[in-house]
Amino acid sequence: MPQVTLESAIAGPSQCPAAQGYDYLIVGAGFAGSVLAERLAAGMNRSVLLIDRREHVGGNAFDHYDEAGILVHRYGPHIFHTNAARIVDYLSRFTEWRPYEHRVLAEVEGRQVPIPINLTTLNILYGLAMDEAQAQAFLAQRAEPVASIQTSEDVVINQIGRELYETFFRGYTRKQWGLDPSQLDRSVTSRVPTRTDADDRYFTDRFQLMPLQGYTRMFERMLDLPTIDVLLGTDFEAVRDRVTYRHLVYCGPVDEYFGYCFGQLPYRSLRFEHTTLEQEWFQPVAVVNYPDEAVPYTRITEYKHLTGQEHRHTSITREYPCAEGDPYYPVPRPENAELYKRYKALADETPGVTFLGRLGTYKYYNMDQVVGQALAVYQRIAQAAGMTLETHEIEPG
Ligand code: FAD
Ligand code: UDP
Repeated sequence: MPQVTLESAIAGPSQCPAAQGYDYLIVGAGFAGSVLAERLAAGMNRSVLLIDRREHVGGNAFDHYDEAGILVHRYGPHIFHTNAARIVDYLSRFTEWRPYEHRVLAEVEGRQVPIPINLTTLNILYGLAMDEAQAQAFLAQRAEPVASIQTSEDVVINQIGRELYETFFRGYTRKQWGLDPSQLDRSVTSRVPTRTDADDRYFTDRFQLMPLQGYTRMFERMLDLPTIDVLLGTDFEAVRDRVTYRHLVYCGPVDEYFGYCFGQLPYRSLRFEHTTLEQEWFQPVAVVNYPDEAVPYTRITEYKHLTGQEHRHTSITREYPCAEGDPYYPVPRPENAELYKRYKALADETPGVTFLGRLGTYKYYNMDQVVGQALAVYQRIAQAAGMTLETHEIEPG
């Protein structure tokens, strides 16, 4: 991965100093920026300067070995899952994979039970021995039909009723978002299904994998191209008027780019408390959720379950949601969607700049969706330039 200094970036592409600047300046070296950088460089031989204000590539998916030598995710657990074979194929150019199916327990009333709620959860919680049909009837009896499902409260109550909603969703959501589920779009809690069979996987996607040597290694391989210069620890403001480029791709917060001219788009942040323990294992699965509002964190992650690493010690992370700090989550609610629309209109009228990624398009996207978004943007750029694309590069539909 060719890393450059600010001085060298100002001078121009390291492979071709005679060129009049870079073809592309890409801000943000997460999935959005890195995938597009790789495609433009490898697919179209464009020169790219990829910058990030952080000291590393990978964005929020960044992982590293901590002081004990345990592979941890700096910004919380990242599990790759998708139904799109073409996205797995694309990323497989840069990594081998470890099959991994994510399982999560929720600690309620002093017991750890599967979440998403499933047959086992219901049987443990209510001391029953129901089969699937009985569990369906049990939930149908508790569900409180909501005529028009708008909010994250509506969607859960409509499915499983108020008691289970309060046990598993209300407190967790209030902690995570600093808002009541009734103030959040239905899309937020809809991410977590309810099941009446004993399937205890968090995701049911066709592909559920972890990069064998970690995300950072995958990003390093993706960016290892002679026409990509990587400049870390550098904010866009430091290069904005100093580096020459023809097109800008901006994967930072869209409201920040426009100087918050319509006001700030709300983002939710997290504080991560990392700990290494002198014991082999801490908990039975990778993630345990704590829906109880009396507990200040939302979940604890134990990384060795995700990575398959063997080590006599173990590292864990507690997540404490907060209002201030790095912008991790766009907050899905109608007024924020309205505000984003105003920024989007401004973005559409700004020539020479493409906004991309979770922050650039204010979308609560998973990694695979961001990869898909970056590949779609590449497809448009390449087709406009008259390039012939490989089959997997063409977005279905
Ligand atoms: P980011 O990864 O946020 O990258 C944007 C980059 O831009 C950052 O590195 C930032 O430093 C940089 N930047 C911003 N502004 C500037 C600027 N002005 N100048 C320079 N650099 C700038 N997805 C999944 O699929 N599975 C999961 O299990 C999962 N778990 C998650 C857990 C947590 C706690 C969080 C927060 C997210 C999780 N995600 C998960 C979502 C995943 O992190 C995102 O989909 C993905 O990382 C988004 O990539 P991105 O490139 O859009 O943004
Ligand atoms: N959620 C909840 N209880 C849980 C798990 C999730 O209330 O035990 C809600 C919460 O609002 C959360 C949302 O469902 O923000 C989506 O959960 P997911 O695990 O997808 O969150 P992420 O991994 O994106 O933080």
